[in-house]
Amino acid sequence: MDIDAFIDEIKKATSISILTGAGISTASGIPDFRGDDGFWKTNKPIYFKEFIHSEKKRIESWKNNIALTKKLSEITFNTGHTLVNKILSLYKDNILITQNIDGLHQKAGTKTEKIIEIHGTALRANCLVCKKIFGLQRFHTAIKFNKPLPDCDACNGLVKVATISFGQSMDPVKMQKAVHAVSQTDLLIVLGSSLVVQPVAGLPRIALENGKRLVICNKEPTPFDIHANLVMNGNIEDLANKILLSHVLD
Ligand code: NAD
Repeated sequence: MDIDAFIDEIKKATSISILTGAGISTASGIPDFRGDDGFWKTNKPIYFKEFIHSEKKRIESWKNNIALTKKLSEITFNTGHTLVNKILSLYKDNILITQNIDGLHQKAGTKTEKIIEIHGTALRANCLVCKKIFGLQRFHTAIKFNKPLPDCDACNGLVKVATISFGQSMDPVKMQKAVHAVSQTDLLIVLGSSLVVQPVAGLPRIALENGKRLVICNKEPTPFDIHANLVMNGNIEDLANKILLSHVLD
């Protein structure tokens, strides 16, 4: 990994967007989407339509959330998340777009206003009709005691974990903010994403079309490697450890 070239890209920029994917959280113990680990295999995705039309699927979805939040309560952020924090603190317009739903960037100290959680979060729920936000506890309790799942107490709508399911529309405001960020900032750094899940995978293209620079750090090749100004195939933790220990960004 060419650490000097990475630092050089950061120092050349006056504003930076960072896009993170599941690969930044594997060192914390959450497998990525396509890895062989059994976790996502036993947490088979539930399509949005299924959630809407089937109570059985809603119960299954909440059971998955109980398992995931239990796992999240047992783990913590890693040096990759710390590196992101450090880079965000360099210039005031720097912004983080994350595909992750695990809340680990916040655990590492990144302020909510600096993060666009483009696929939502597993740590809250919201009403699908009026968008009222809920904590998870009352839904977990209903599942544990085999009680009916509560509907929204404001409008009686269905309440779902605040992640974007397969077949569910993304939040257009978040997507607009992400597009604006990558087309305005000088540099886009992608950390731990296969860059195949749309529409987020379109963000590097938008950055490049706007004449911005692109740096990718990922274990495996991505479809954007040939267009990037710098590609580092390796572990994010190795990159983060080297940079943080050198204090070159302090
Ligand atoms: P992905 O699984 O498609 O890609 C992750 C990439 O990270 C892979 O190419 C892998 O080679 C790479 N990687 C894994 N560990 C790495 C490491 N230590 N260092 C460097 N690279 C590493 O993930 P994606 O692109 O984020 O898309 C998957 C979708 O699934 C997203 O929508 C995301 O919301 C969701 N998801 C989220 C989490 C999470 O919140 N932690 C975990 C799994 C999936």
